[in-house]
Amino acid sequence: MAIKEILQSYNKTKITIATICSHTSLQIFHGAKKEGFRTLGIAIEKTPKFYSAFPNAMPNEFFIIKDYKEILKVAKELQKKNVIIIPHGSFVEYLGGENLLKMDLPTFGNRNVIPWEVNRKKQREWLLSAGLDMPKEFSSPKEINCPVMVKFHGAKGGKGYFIAKNYDEFLEVNPKEIYTIQEYITGTRYYINFFYSPIKNSGYKLSKGSLELLSIDRRDEANIDEVYKLGSKEELKKLGILPSFVVTGNVSVVLRESLLPKAFEMAENVVEKSLELCGGIIGPFCLETVVTDELKFKVFEISARIVAGTNPFIFGSPYSDLIEEKLSTGRRIAKEIKLARKLGRLVEIIS
Ligand code: AMP
Repeated sequence: MAIKEILQSYNKTKITIATICSHTSLQIFHGAKKEGFRTLGIAIEKTPKFYSAFPNAMPNEFFIIKDYKEILKVAKELQKKNVIIIPHGSFVEYLGGENLLKMDLPTFGNRNVIPWEVNRKKQREWLLSAGLDMPKEFSSPKEINCPVMVKFHGAKGGKGYFIAKNYDEFLEVNPKEIYTIQEYITGTRYYINFFYSPIKNSGYKLSKGSLELLSIDRRDEANIDEVYKLGSKEELKKLGILPSFVVTGNVSVVLRESLLPKAFEMAENVVEKSLELCGGIIGPFCLETVVTDELKFKVFEISARIVAGTNPFIFGSPYSDLIEEKLSTGRRIAKEIKLARKLGRLVEIIS
């Protein structure tokens, strides 16, 4: 059944906000409950015990499945509960973009963005055509003539990524998986968390709807963040330690205020381009950037959904507090669903 029809069959006064119990789920449930929604946590094999430690973020109901793919089979059962799914980073990673496209459940955001996000080539095409400055890419390791970051397609969270300064250093690892070679940008990292609403008509307006900056974070990455304490690269090599970029947590940061107009301009262009390419990047998204010592942004990636970097801001951020106090991204999503329901425009934010 088409998502529109499923949505039409729903009792709109009994909408249940659901997601997989992981990633940003505490924040999503907390925000949804604050906005008066029922919540449902989808968990694998058993009820996760640690939720009982956080009563304000505990979903009203747990729904246990055997593995992530089973969610496709239980869609009918969840439809009966008027479920709207909030897809977070782990949701997409575990279920897979293709399966998410097939899921017969009303899902917050625009699923047509997924192919533009998961395919690195298409993502680059999108961001470059939106006028963003991105790190240079090398089509062959033999072309490496500056420090580069070698990234793997499947690898999430930076696992296995490595830095090489020339071809010989590349050969020391010589990966067998599919990789992308990207210029290593020196500077300071900022992960800028935006929210695009196609139905809100106040604030920072776009050709349709409006754009909000909800927070900025930086990732803690093991072991690169601390490994310097053990000595030089040569010493580390002797110890058999290679730098790695595995995300272990997130911290709150703010940008120099003079960089904010540029950050908004980049996000605005990304949204406008997405409206053209696939109907819009609806809801939360994150621009992953490095700011150089010339105060220029380089964008190395975009995430087209709620990212774990929004977790430090369950009770608001220095930016979201200037929109509304204690506004987390999870709560912002719930507010968007509430507004769309009131305006009879749910179909515009659900796919
Ligand atoms: P990604 O999977 O693209 O989010 O990258 C994982 C991590 O690698 C980032 O959080 C950064 O710390 C680092 N990184 C990725 N691309 C670059 C780049 N082009 N220059 C410098 N650091 C990068």
